[in-house]
Amino acid sequence: MNTTETLELIASLEGYLHDLRDSGVDGLPLGAAVAAIALPDAVPAAHSPALPPVAADSESPVGFVAEGAIHGLDAVREELGECHRCRLGDTRTTLVFGTGNPRARLVFVGEAPGGDEDRQGIPFVGEAGQLLTKIIQAMGYGRDEIYICNVLKCRPPQNRNPQADEIEQCHPFLLKQLRAIGPEVIVALGSFAAQTLLKSKEPISKLRGVFHDYHGIPLMPTFHPAYLLRNPGAKREVWDDMQKVMKRLGSQGGKG
Ligand code: SF4
Repeated sequence: MNTTETLELIASLEGYLHDLRDSGVDGLPLGAAVAAIALPDAVPAAHSPALPPVAADSESPVGFVAEGAIHGLDAVREELGECHRCRLGDTRTTLVFGTGNPRARLVFVGEAPGGDEDRQGIPFVGEAGQLLTKIIQAMGYGRDEIYICNVLKCRPPQNRNPQADEIEQCHPFLLKQLRAIGPEVIVALGSFAAQTLLKSKEPISKLRGVFHDYHGIPLMPTFHPAYLLRNPGAKREVWDDMQKVMKRLGSQGGKG
């Protein structure tokens, strides 16, 4: 599908959604949202009015922060500096700290920057990142409403697996980041993020689908978008997981 066709499809879908809303339809069935994720080149602004919106000024119920989150995140970034605490500081192009709402109710945590992220300094901007964006949109959010970061802030050479000493050096900054934000729910994307955050050796297929505890915050492990690119059939399971996340956010008072 070329760019013109993609834009036409997006416009057509947006028009269709507007028509539905105007005709009084206040939500889409599960299949429609899954289909939206499945579209390779076009995802409509699949905001479901049934979902609770995420507001930048909503209060977090998590005791361990929220107030002054912006300053908190700035302080963490400042402390990190032009970090060379592990060897990845010598090979990265750009340190990828994180992006999004500093008071987000929902945070996605991935593994480490890839090539595109290393060049741009923004997490999840490559092909897998574009799929994550579609998932986020299908949940009814924009990337600026949630927060996205990685366990490691610097790209491992050739995208190799992170090493234990690199995690040991970098993980404290992720913890400080999450404390500064004070989200209500964390989603760990893929085995590496889930196992690191939960200090577990269980495979993601065993960890996903249920909430775990991360320093008092509910954490939902799910498959990494890069895995979904190779195994599109797993989108259904990811969508099941995201529905639980949406329900959790909605069931906590519908703040925002
Ligand atoms: S990966 Fe983390 S600890 Fe290592 S250099 Fe980058 S920011 Fe520092």
